[in-house]
Amino acid sequence: MRSFFPEAALDPARLVVLAGKYVNNPPLYSKLMKLGFEAASLPDFAHMAAITFADTVVSHQPFTDRLLFHELVHVVQYQKLCLSQFSAQYVKGFLNGGSYEASPLEMNAYELEARYAAEPAKLFSVADQVQRWIAENRF
Ligand SMILES: [Zn+2]
Repeated sequence: MRSFFPEAALDPARLVVLAGKYVNNPPLYSKLMKLGFEAASLPDFAHMAAITFADTVVSHQPFTDRLLFHELVHVVQYQKLCLSQFSAQYVKGFLNGGSYEASPLEMNAYELEARYAAEPAKLFSVADQVQRWIAENRF
């Protein structure tokens, strides 16, 4: 991952693999349901492969290179957007897009993950790519 990510993202990153346990859905969900959101329309954290909280990646399955790459993109996004802006963009993106995958933060992570998976030997800077999305107001 050193060829794609800055040390500033890799050094503080911590990985956790849960076995037989799952991350609970956030308390925000009960508020969203009061606003009329169907529980089924909210992404269930227990069904996600992994979830990144700032610099800590919690996985429900053993890490593959591709999964780790995807989650480290979120670490870079957190660093560049800061926690409050990342969280606001994540929720806004989900509400505007109508699904977890339609969130621009996820679209950015999936795009870069796919680029890495297609040509793992072709190096690029994830930090530069995330910065480009910020500059283009794509989040
Ligand atoms: Zn993701």
